[in-house]
Amino acid sequence: MNYCKVFLKPKKEESLLRFHPWVFSGAIQSIEGKPEEGDLVEVYGQNQRFLAVGHYQIGSIAVRILSFKPATVNTDFWTERIRIAYTLRKSLRLAGTENNNTYRLIHGEGDNLPGLVIDMYAHTAVMQAHSVGMHYARHQIAEALKTVLGDTLQNIYYKSEATLPFKANLDSEDGYLYGGEVEDIALEHGLKFCVDWQKGQKTGFFVDQRENRSLLEHYSKDRSVLNMFCYTGGFSFYAMRGGAKVVHSVDSSAKAISLTKKNVELNFPGDTRHDAYAEDAFKYLEKMGSNYDLIILDPPAFAKHKNVLRNALQGYRKLNAIAFEKIKPGGILFTFSCSQVVSKENFRLAVFSAAAQSGRSVRILHQLTQPADHPVNIYHPEGEYLKGLVLYVE
Ligand code: SAH
Repeated sequence: MNYCKVFLKPKKEESLLRFHPWVFSGAIQSIEGKPEEGDLVEVYGQNQRFLAVGHYQIGSIAVRILSFKPATVNTDFWTERIRIAYTLRKSLRLAGTENNNTYRLIHGEGDNLPGLVIDMYAHTAVMQAHSVGMHYARHQIAEALKTVLGDTLQNIYYKSEATLPFKANLDSEDGYLYGGEVEDIALEHGLKFCVDWQKGQKTGFFVDQRENRSLLEHYSKDRSVLNMFCYTGGFSFYAMRGGAKVVHSVDSSAKAISLTKKNVELNFPGDTRHDAYAEDAFKYLEKMGSNYDLIILDPPAFAKHKNVLRNALQGYRKLNAIAFEKIKPGGILFTFSCSQVVSKENFRLAVFSAAAQSGRSVRILHQLTQPADHPVNIYHPEGEYLKGLVLYVE
């Protein structure tokens, strides 16, 4: 295969030699050929030293690396990568088990496939491209998925309208690349979820909170639970299974609330311990009483870019301050941030200053992160995005 060649400036090959999977545009000295956005290119350092193969992009990240060895990127290539990822999920006992069929199969850089996300819901793969290169490769990737997953795969839904670079003007349409039988009930640790990958947020479900929901289950017995920013209600069912006294789920989206109610019915038909409210978080928190002794705060990313970091940190502080103020003595707070640009340290600081503002005695019980099916490539620490604290409030 003849790929265009990208040559780096002197001293700019360091990060690739340390296997960081991105080439920034400022590191490029010259390009041989005229690659278009999404084309495969080879990257070279000084003295024609081969460094990597990747997808070319127009923007600050100019190349996303697929391989640090010479490689022909074709269906066989994708098959091998997906097989490695699938083997890992099987060894984690997330795939091919009786009580769980919801997991992330491909987590971008974490699976050495920058720009690609694939979530599995029972027999459906939901594929999301974040780069033009992955968009072009979608049919080859679909073939590879079929080869690796065999009979367990019945549908592939492609959902990239919202994630592809806007300027690329690709007219990408969401839809099925394979199958189309909408069987939308998936299992997570034995609990049933109705997943709406066509209209729902992200790929339809927040797979990344699985282990944290499971931990919550063990704290739920006889507690009054508030699941703030509940979306499909994930934390609520774990709390119910864990023996909570009451569970209230809140989200500003009416659609999320109806999904939550539907999911409660699926798992606990007729159970009167649960109620759900479509309301703004701050409004609800301000007017609620002090009856909850287990509160979950799992807001959407407050900061999507570095330049709004300050406001985001203030948002986290404000939100957590109300929870500290209102939670019952002896209460437990599960608090999260999924903003990639908010570091663990910054998030902690925001939560600490909220605690100080309340004057309550607060202890950290657990420090949470993303689960093993969202692995962090050790050479790409930016991939660590989910942060959580479990706090005991006296
Ligand atoms: N905890 C969920 C995921 C939360 S995603 C889970 O385990 O699956 C964030 C949710 O916050 C979204 O459903 C969104 O509708 C909701 N949201 C965003 N802004 C909000 C606000 N101001 N008040 C309440 N909910 C809000």
